[in-house]
Amino acid sequence: MKTNKKKKLSGCKDKGSSGRKKLSGCKRAGKTSANFSPRSADMTPKTFFIKTFGCQMNVRDSELIAGNLLSKGYKIVDSPEEADVLLFNTCSVRQHAEDKTWSEIGRYKSRPRSTVHGPLIIGLVGCMAEYHKYGAFKKSEYIDFVCGPNNIAAIPFLIEAAKKTDNKGMAVGQRQRDEFIYNTNFQNTADKSFIVITEGCNNFCSYCVVPLVRGIERSRHHEDILKEIKDLVSKGIKEITLLGQNVNSYISPQSTVHSPQSKVTFIELLKMVNEVEGLESFTFMTSHPKDASTELFKAMARLDKCAKYLHLPIQSGSDRILKLMNRKYTAKEFLNNIDEYKKIVNAKLSTDIIVGFPTESKKDFLATKKLLEMVKFDNAYIFKYSVRAHTQAATLKDDVSLKEKQRRHKILLDLQRKNSKIKK
Ligand code: SF4
Repeated sequence: MKTNKKKKLSGCKDKGSSGRKKLSGCKRAGKTSANFSPRSADMTPKTFFIKTFGCQMNVRDSELIAGNLLSKGYKIVDSPEEADVLLFNTCSVRQHAEDKTWSEIGRYKSRPRSTVHGPLIIGLVGCMAEYHKYGAFKKSEYIDFVCGPNNIAAIPFLIEAAKKTDNKGMAVGQRQRDEFIYNTNFQNTADKSFIVITEGCNNFCSYCVVPLVRGIERSRHHEDILKEIKDLVSKGIKEITLLGQNVNSYISPQSTVHSPQSKVTFIELLKMVNEVEGLESFTFMTSHPKDASTELFKAMARLDKCAKYLHLPIQSGSDRILKLMNRKYTAKEFLNNIDEYKKIVNAKLSTDIIVGFPTESKKDFLATKKLLEMVKFDNAYIFKYSVRAHTQAATLKDDVSLKEKQRRHKILLDLQRKNSKIKK
């Protein structure tokens, strides 16, 4: 397989001294010259390193960014110390994730800011870039450009612009990605790959910034997805994970070019993926409980290459909190779904839970705990609520103290540890 040599896109160890650019205005990418010159006079290629934070979507996005830069003659390196360009592909879902990123960028205060090819260029990419936009430059003067998740194709332009001017670069707000970005021929591993099938989200859960930073939901055309999978399989990929914020609501956009009548649903897409010759197995994430159906479970059971595993985030066991979260299902409906899944697929199951959502009472928390005791998930990712500006939940008072959130978090973690042991 001719995927690029296996390289880690993360793992950051920094040291050194002195800052560089001053905040001075803002320049949009795309208006800069398209003449790439990733090689300097000595003909050694310019190098880059990507530090990735957050979810699988970001892991895949970092691969897309890397593939695009490699195709323009840049060289990927194993550590930030060797890099001429340092990219932080970031997550805004929780304050904790943001704090970690700011602190990591802050380490560049004391790092040498020049490389073999001139000044070190730092780019803030992904959800934090879209969330903070111009404000990111006020938070850290070391950032040379910000680039939102839908604008990642602009990164080579932003780097070129940063080399030529002290102006800060910004590319944000694009609604949809250019399809070519998915065909940039780079995977972090040789036999597995993520495939993005939808981007953005229409659900507007009250605590979540995803619809704000990744935009409303768009599905990629099924023929583009299948082409990408077949291409990867021809290069040695055996297992894939179909990715989206809410994969169950996938629907292929109608296309006058390829097949005018085609409207392919998620289940139909799964059937098509199952038929890809040479592919050994596939899975998908994330599913929204309101869109997970008996038909989906039947398809999972029937399709031989579909991994028998489902991640279905409950978030809370209290109907009152679920309503405040705008999750559009009740605990009973969720449990009915799980019963169906167990009857039809009878396989592994994991979930997400948030503790300490605004107004979460002891009674609400105990409802979540009871649900966890009943379902006995194979795995549960348990988080403490943190306020995200501009979300609906930010209008509610964050009235569960940090100490209480920590207490509830620990109770559920301990319970889940027991459950996981039983399930092994
Ligand atoms: S389903 Fe809800 S939690 Fe998931 S990405 Fe969409 S808005 Fe966020």
